[in-house]
Amino acid sequence: MAPHAKPVDSFDLVIIGGTGDLARRKLLPALFHRFLDGQITPESRIIGGARDDLTTEAYRHMARESIASESADPAAVDTFLQLVHFTRIDVRSAESFSTLASLLNQRPGNVRVFYLAIQPSLFSDACRQLRDAGLNCDRCRVVVEKPIGHDLPSATATNEVLAEAFTEAQTFRIDHYLGKETVQNLLALRFGNALFEPVWNAAHVDHVQITVSEQAGVGGRHSYYDSAGAMRDMVQNHLLQLLCFVAMEPPHSISADPVRNEKLKVLQSLEPLDGEAALAATVRGQYRAGVSGSSAVAGYAEETGLEDSNTETFVALRAGIANWRWAGVPFYLRTGKRLAQRVSEIVIAFRSVPHSLFGTTAGGALSPNKLVIRLQPDEGVKLSLMIKEPGPGGLRLRESSLDMTFAETFGGRHPDAYERLLMDVVRGNQTLFMRRDEIEAAWRWVDPIIAAWNDSAAAPRPYAAGSWGPSAAVALVEREGRTWHEDTDL
Ligand code: NAP
Repeated sequence: MAPHAKPVDSFDLVIIGGTGDLARRKLLPALFHRFLDGQITPESRIIGGARDDLTTEAYRHMARESIASESADPAAVDTFLQLVHFTRIDVRSAESFSTLASLLNQRPGNVRVFYLAIQPSLFSDACRQLRDAGLNCDRCRVVVEKPIGHDLPSATATNEVLAEAFTEAQTFRIDHYLGKETVQNLLALRFGNALFEPVWNAAHVDHVQITVSEQAGVGGRHSYYDSAGAMRDMVQNHLLQLLCFVAMEPPHSISADPVRNEKLKVLQSLEPLDGEAALAATVRGQYRAGVSGSSAVAGYAEETGLEDSNTETFVALRAGIANWRWAGVPFYLRTGKRLAQRVSEIVIAFRSVPHSLFGTTAGGALSPNKLVIRLQPDEGVKLSLMIKEPGPGGLRLRESSLDMTFAETFGGRHPDAYERLLMDVVRGNQTLFMRRDEIEAAWRWVDPIIAAWNDSAAAPRPYAAGSWGPSAAVALVEREGRTWHEDTDL
């Protein structure tokens, strides 16, 4: 067992949609690793459910394939698979939920987690069935994935559906970005050190950048993606959540509601963007053919067959936070598909020193300090500093970085975000999950931007696959005398 991996209470985790992509690619491997670390008790069960009429043996076979690359220890795989079961579930069939209830009643003391790994259009039926089958008791929890709605009214409707069956304390809205080590490290960095908090404000921070870029295209997800676009798929949830962790005030404790109260205040403090202001502060793009890695790749229209689509695969925007800490500090957000690199990072760019003692003979202009918090790949934190170049020849300064790449610093395996989040659900810890009012506040800010785009005749700006997006995104930052951070900067 890893030194700090304490076993959680025994649980029955029901994956409704247990044969789908999410279950196979993320949930089963994550649970397997928690099992390997000794966090899952032998009395726990992982119950897959779907309309497909599988036997438990067939489902275990599927689960074995999902975790095949995760461990070389066949005995551990076999023991884990003994915890895995299958029951046929159709969210439109009350009978399948009464069978499920009987199965769960075999272990009345277990925590019960219902992971809705199904299309959001099925949430309503699933919640109603769970409630009608009495599967919303105090020990029960429900987990839902994004997307939670496609605008404020639909998100409110989904939240209503959840609230009809489960209390807010039982409802876990997952954003896997928040399970990443680096996001929690952002909290550790900010609130566990005396160094940063005094300079974490408009007096010392020039601007903040948050980039979540993907090299992949839309691939097989285009039926969902074309109705969503980068704003709904990424900005409304992942990027705004990261912004909240950067910008929030210190909560009075690290437990769920104090943290979420502070995040909510940030969302409520975002300067509204609508109409012309929204068009001026945002850039949306759509990729054309180009080169990704070393391969030629098609544009969005050819890849999806949707010639007339106006869906954005890229967004860059400038957000402002109207409060005492952040007034006047731009938060530049950028996300897109088919970009030059796959990277998720937050850059805190500090202000320049007020006066330089070192003339041009000392190596040119001083670079302001930057704190780069990288979520993927290579999770870690880097702080850029000006130092004296070693050796004789006068006082020449150059930029260097204090580099804490977690894989190098701590070694060992780096757990996937789902591992932590699934254990948090069993523990009932909602700190890293989104509360209803946060989701709704995020939509309240995003909806007018999308409305401004829809009202404008302009199509998304084209960009070549493999680039960093439309040139207008570069101009968005450069016209204010700044540049997007590139990894080669440090
Ligand atoms: P998927 O591959 O299409 O799988 C859907 C699952 O739902 C299958 O197991 C399917 O099995 C089951 N299902 C469909 N209709 C059902 C019904 N009436 N009753 C019970 N089960 C039913 O979808 P997914 O990619 O795993 O995504 C699941 C959810 O997670 C979606 O809300 C998605 O937006 C969200 N999500 C997924 C990812 C990801 O990486 N995949 C990432 C973020 C969010 P049967 O057809 O046999 O019933």
